[in-house]
Amino acid sequence: STQVQLVNRPVGWPTAADFRTVTVDLPDLAPGQVRVANEFVSVDPYMRGRMNDVKSYVPPFALGETMTGGAVGRVVASASDALAVGDVVTHAYGWRDLVQEDAAGFQAVPEIPGVPLSAYLGVLGMTALTAYVGLLEIAGLKEGDTVFVSGAAGAVGSMVGQIARLKGAKRVIGSAGSAEKVALLTGKYGFDAAFNYKDGSVRDQLAAAAPDGIDVYFDNVGGDHLEAALASFKDGGRAAMCGAISLYNSTDAPAGPNNLSNIVTRGLTLRGFTVGNFWDRLPAFSAEMAGWLASGEIVFDETVVDGVENTVDAFLGLMRGENTGKMVVRTGDL
Ligand code: NDP
Repeated sequence: STQVQLVNRPVGWPTAADFRTVTVDLPDLAPGQVRVANEFVSVDPYMRGRMNDVKSYVPPFALGETMTGGAVGRVVASASDALAVGDVVTHAYGWRDLVQEDAAGFQAVPEIPGVPLSAYLGVLGMTALTAYVGLLEIAGLKEGDTVFVSGAAGAVGSMVGQIARLKGAKRVIGSAGSAEKVALLTGKYGFDAAFNYKDGSVRDQLAAAAPDGIDVYFDNVGGDHLEAALASFKDGGRAAMCGAISLYNSTDAPAGPNNLSNIVTRGLTLRGFTVGNFWDRLPAFSAEMAGWLASGEIVFDETVVDGVENTVDAFLGLMRGENTGKMVVRTGDL
């Protein structure tokens, strides 16, 4: 099994030297175990936080051990009655091509004709569930709302915009970091307006896109995006605080938005959440999303990097914005 391990805790931007790739011989299966050949491994922004040795909602990654995280693969050998060779499973054993563990560590999932298995890491998995819960439950989307989402061409953001429209938002605005992504937002994902945050002041660009203000902000970015949303909120506005990727690799103390007083004067609600506390919503989400995918009402993109040995490059590419939609690593034929 080829596995990627964390060996140093990065300060600022991670580098290749913070990781190593090792080859591990797998023993014979013990009773109750299965061996799974991963097809796709996930890289996710939250992993950057787990590389730091700080107390958080998930414990830090252990140095010298294989990076854990979402993955999807197929059972290739089984010593368990629970899973058979050929079954498709998701799991959290992360950055490796082959994994061998007790069957209880894997969840069997159906194969859906025409849908790649990588969908279980994105549009049918954690990131789209994050969008669904954050928008509908945390921000409490209502019909007629004007919605702004940052990181809008990413895995979570591209789902937020589309779900908002399907659930009756009046106007959906997104920001992203390139002209190509902005074109995709309005051309493919059905956003009403979009802008490139690198083109100028986020506050000015948002104000121009939402002249009547916003009701909901879905924050993936933090920093000046949050400040811009605070400036554009209507009275009673709500924000789902999902992430702050603009800060994850910064070594400076983050600057706070300079207009937090709007929370008081406009009666705003800013509510944070982590999707791990909402896994019980997965069945309802999966059923609704399966319908949207089948009808074509939701479309999705993925950026695929080949080779488990390139997982670090994929992770760094994600942090640099090289992905459109979900960034995944294809582990290849085994
Ligand atoms: P994405 O697919 O959105 O990939 C990350 C994107 O972030 C990049 O493509 C890049 O796009 C953008 N980005 C990077 N640096 C900056 C910056 N300085 N300013 C603005 N944008 C930047 O990742 P995910 O969809 O997986 O995650 C999106 C957010 O959601 C993250 O903040 C993540 O931590 C959070 N999250 C939170 C969860 C929760 O439970 N609360 C669960 C899952 C994700 P661009 O080219 O546009 O810059």
